[in-house]
Parts: sequence; C-alpha cells; structure tokens
Amino acid sequence: MNNANKHPEDELLAAYSAASLPLSQALCISIHLERCPDCGRKLQRLNRVGSELMQQLKPAPAADELKNRLLDRLDSLSEENSEQAHPLPDSTVPRCLQQFVHGNYDDLPWRRVSADIRSVELCRDSNGARVELLKIKPGGSAITHTHLGDEYTVILEGSFSDEAGLYGEGDFLLRGKHDKHTPVASLHRECLCLAVTEGPIQFTGFFSRLMNPFIRRSYA
Ligand SMILES: [Zn+2]
Repeated sequence: MNNANKHPEDELLAAYSAASLPLSQALCISIHLERCPDCGRKLQRLNRVGSELMQQLKPAPAADELKNRLLDRLDSLSEENSEQAHPLPDSTVPRCLQQFVHGNYDDLPWRRVSADIRSVELCRDSNGARVELLKIKPGGSAITHTHLGDEYTVILEGSFSDEAGLYGEGDFLLRGKHDKHTPVASLHRECLCLAVTEGPIQFTGFFSRLMNPFIRRSYA
C-alpha cells in the first residue's frame, strides 16, 4: 500500500543510504519508508550502488570507516526487513517511533501550544534539532510562521493543507528557512505529525511578533 504522495528528494535518500544524515532527519525518512514502497525500492537501488562503489575503492582508513557504516546500515535494513515479515502486534505507531512512544499516543505528556495545537517533545538531536509530535485539532490551524532553520514533517495520521497543497498520511515535507506557511488540519479528523525543527520557528504578523522572543528563549 502506498499512501504517500510527497517524498524525500533523491539527495536525502542517498544521504540516508550512506548513513550520513543527522538521526532526527533519518527518523523522518524511516517513518516515510514504512509507508512508501516506491522510496523503499529506490533506497534498495541506492544501497546496491553504494556497496558497488565501496568495493571499487582502494582500501584507506576513511573508506574503511565509510564502508563499515554502510555495512552496519545494510545489516539494520535486513533486520528491519525480517521484522516486516513478522509485524509487531497491532500498533498505529511506526516501528522506528516505538522507542519514544510505548503504547498509545494519548498516554504522552501533551502540552497546549495554542487553542488548536498540542505538542510533545520526544528528544533533541546532537545537532540541536527538536523532535516533537504535533496534534492539530480538526479544522485547526497553526499560526503563520517561517523558520530560522529547516523543518522536516511526516504526517502520521489525518491530513493538513497549506499554501502549497494538501498532505496526507505518510507524506514527507521539507520546509526551508524562507518558506512561510500556515498549516490547517482537515475538518473531519485530528492531524498528527512528527516535526523536526532545526532552529526556532518565527511567527509572522503583528501580534505574533510579540511572541517570538519567548519562542526563541524556550528553544535555547
Ligand atoms: Zn516515498
């Protein structure tokens, strides 16, 4: 089954294949891969090309290190594939998120961000990126914002739209520093996303400007 319509760029998949992405970005891609056989096949091709390239390289300490990282990655992929053959008991939580979410999303310590949004921080990456789950109530919207770093989003449940389109379960989005957007959840159900933000978000508009110093402080 392929639910996803928005996919990571090939460059990101290649970096994932080479195990050179920050863990927070790799987490977003892993979640997408659980729901996107097309990207799964692309990744297998990249892994094959990567391993052939590695075999052509003359042994050198740096190449050995890279090769080991790639082999580790391939090992973990084959483990993942064998797990896929024996799926875990019913859970809507993607396998790669189960280390943070033991059981049910509702059991997490959600905090209120606005009338429409709840969030829970899962972890911080070593590069400072914040990894969090966001819940937007049906028809609810986030305040229009830009970012001071990149923002990666994967939709886990429900859907939302913004100025650029409509996104559903499994979709992977990357918003850059200068993208300004206002996500709005669809009316029929709550939208649950995993978001990785590599810098504080910057609200736009007169009243929102008053909030930015507080947001930046909470990010530090
Ligand atoms: Zn995909």
